[in-house]
Amino acid sequence: MTLRKTLTLALSALTISALAGTAIAQDRVLNLYSARHYQSDELIFAEFTRTTGIRINQVQADDAGIMARLRAEGAASPADVVLLVDAARLALADSQGMFRPIQSAALNAAIPPNLRAAATPQGVTWYGFSARARVIAFDPARVRPEQIATYEQLSDPALRGMICSRSGSHPYNLTLFAAMIERHGEARTETWLRGVVANLGRAPVGGDTDQIRAVASGECAIGITNSYYAARLMRSARPEDRAVMERVRLLHPNQATSGTHMNVAGGAVARHTRQPEMAQQFMEFLATPFAQRTFADANNEFPAARGVTIDNPALRALGGASGAFKQDELPLGDVARHLTTAQRLLDRTGFR
Ligand code: FE
Repeated sequence: MTLRKTLTLALSALTISALAGTAIAQDRVLNLYSARHYQSDELIFAEFTRTTGIRINQVQADDAGIMARLRAEGAASPADVVLLVDAARLALADSQGMFRPIQSAALNAAIPPNLRAAATPQGVTWYGFSARARVIAFDPARVRPEQIATYEQLSDPALRGMICSRSGSHPYNLTLFAAMIERHGEARTETWLRGVVANLGRAPVGGDTDQIRAVASGECAIGITNSYYAARLMRSARPEDRAVMERVRLLHPNQATSGTHMNVAGGAVARHTRQPEMAQQFMEFLATPFAQRTFADANNEFPAARGVTIDNPALRALGGASGAFKQDELPLGDVARHLTTAQRLLDRTGFR
């Protein structure tokens, strides 16, 4: 190769890399740390990219993994937005300073106050983007719905040995118990928890689906579960899963009183984001009807935003696609203040 040719090649290579450099600088990328892993989330991200030109770079891990990573990265973290599952985990990350409060009229209008963090003068740290109800699956041959019409009744001595539950300290249960403390105070909740523990038919084991299966198999009369696990069995391609749901009935507790306990999967702007406007733009996109429908339907959840309905036969069976049952309106942000107390009560009452 002649010197001239080599020089020309080197120069054009320089030009290409300079152009590429420009392209990279203009390529806007949002770093999303997500504990959600659903194919349909990709549809939402693709639509966001199509309408804004902002690419989504996803870091996926479970909730604990994401929190560990944020902690390790500290102020150097490239995270812009964080998505976690359950108010207890969102509140925990929030209490460790992992989120940046935002002022968003759009989000405040879309997401009801019970499904987001408490507002401070700095703004709101986290918002729920999909909602789940904590419901009861029961065996109609062994228990009448009137006996379990409320969470409070689960401590009734008439229900000895009937209840099956996952671990008391799992975030889904912990948030429910924190809500009991917010409503009834610590002393009454402790007494109630003692009654619930006395009514357990077996030591806490497995996840929510295992409790539904235990009711169907006759091992328990009453199981506590998030709504989407029941919906998942109803919509399952496996006949044996659908058969499980034919053997149990579902009940939304507290319809005549405070409403059924609701929890969320949600998100927040990361504390150390260097792109706060872009991060907020993405958060606001997640509350739009398109994103809400897709986000909720992926996991058979209810949209968190007001006035959004989804066409999901299992959700209709669970009380309406819009969640047309009475929902507990205690703000999850207030409830979350009692999580540590709830854990202490579990230790004291032996609800492992
Ligand atoms: Fe779950």
